[in-house]
Amino acid sequence: MKFFEPAERLKLIPPYLFKDIDDKKEQVRSSGVDIIDLGVGDPDLPTPPFIVERMKEAVADPRTHRYPLYSGLTLFREAVARWYKRRFEVELDPDTEVLTLIGCKEGLAHLPLAVNNWEDVNLVPTPAYPVYRMGTIFAGGNPYMVPLLKENGFFPNFREIPPIEARDAKLFFFNYPNNPTATVADLEFFQQMLDFCREYHITPVHDASYTELAFDGYRPPSFLQLPGAKDIGVEFHSLSKTYSMTGWRLGMAVGNREVLAALGKIKSNIDSGAFDAIQLAGIAALDSDQSCVAQYCRIYQERRDILVSGLKKQGYEVEPPQATFYVWLPVPQRFTSMQFTTHLLENAGIVTVPGVGFGEPGEGFVRLALTVPKERLEEALARLAKIG
Ligand SMILES: *Cc1c(COP(=O)(O)O)cnc(C)c1O
Repeated sequence: MKFFEPAERLKLIPPYLFKDIDDKKEQVRSSGVDIIDLGVGDPDLPTPPFIVERMKEAVADPRTHRYPLYSGLTLFREAVARWYKRRFEVELDPDTEVLTLIGCKEGLAHLPLAVNNWEDVNLVPTPAYPVYRMGTIFAGGNPYMVPLLKENGFFPNFREIPPIEARDAKLFFFNYPNNPTATVADLEFFQQMLDFCREYHITPVHDASYTELAFDGYRPPSFLQLPGAKDIGVEFHSLSKTYSMTGWRLGMAVGNREVLAALGKIKSNIDSGAFDAIQLAGIAALDSDQSCVAQYCRIYQERRDILVSGLKKQGYEVEPPQATFYVWLPVPQRFTSMQFTTHLLENAGIVTVPGVGFGEPGEGFVRLALTVPKERLEEALARLAKIG
């Protein structure tokens, strides 16, 4: 018998999505190819300098060096409430309706531990950010996968969710603007989600990580804008994508106070909250005039236009995304998404993510991230044209 065996629950977790791609990427790179990486959704643009300056100041202050409050600095929670009011006209009580997170991934992954009993069902979209499903599995829950199909505009079809699953469900995860499909939702869809969750006594959990990265003047809504939404639901948000702060690890959960209290109880026993200095820098970001966000959106929008129009010229049927920094590209008929990813990597040195990696219904697409300078996108297009 082996001395060490990992827990059974780890065997339920599929291999890390990017592992295979990472390995192949290294192989191609070591053969001397200049790789263009459109794979990982991690901004190449730096954190705006005024946020970095605030961090430098805050980190030099010994008062930030002690254990933070697990629920987050009151000043940060107040800044979140101000930001929600300004941005969405949503009122939040900073003491009970805002919880600081060490990145929103942390909160999403821990939430099922606070909500699910053994074998409870959570409704989980697919394709999707993998954390909703993994968090459910770690908590001993049963993910019921709700497909987001092209023919439904990449929205869940509520009528196809079996009532027997819905009745057992505790959480319904959803994410708009969406990673990976870049789909945006209006309040009408959010209302359907709220109605469905009310009917079946489910907690709606909206991942709003991309509401600030939008184009052509479009402003994505918050789920909490709906009257009554926070009576049952929560929304997760993050400074990662909005302010190019992925490495800093700062996010927030807002909305229903009972759900947040339960999540806070888990967190108080697992982590000890986000570094105060990071939260102080986060306040500077949230309280700023948001011109840095507008500037970065213009950069992503220019990249989007270059990539999408270039792809269209080459015969790809692709729509310009209204938000997120992703392009969800249908793959040519003769390829699976995995084959197309390999084809692009081996023949053009371009890294993409196969749609199937986000879940079976993602087959037929690859995800491209607009996280490289426009010159690199032009180079990618030139290489694509060459391989035909
Ligand atoms: C990037 C991302 C997150 C994670 O954000 P962090 O705050 O960095 O943990 C959550 N959800 C989606 C859909 C994302 O793409």
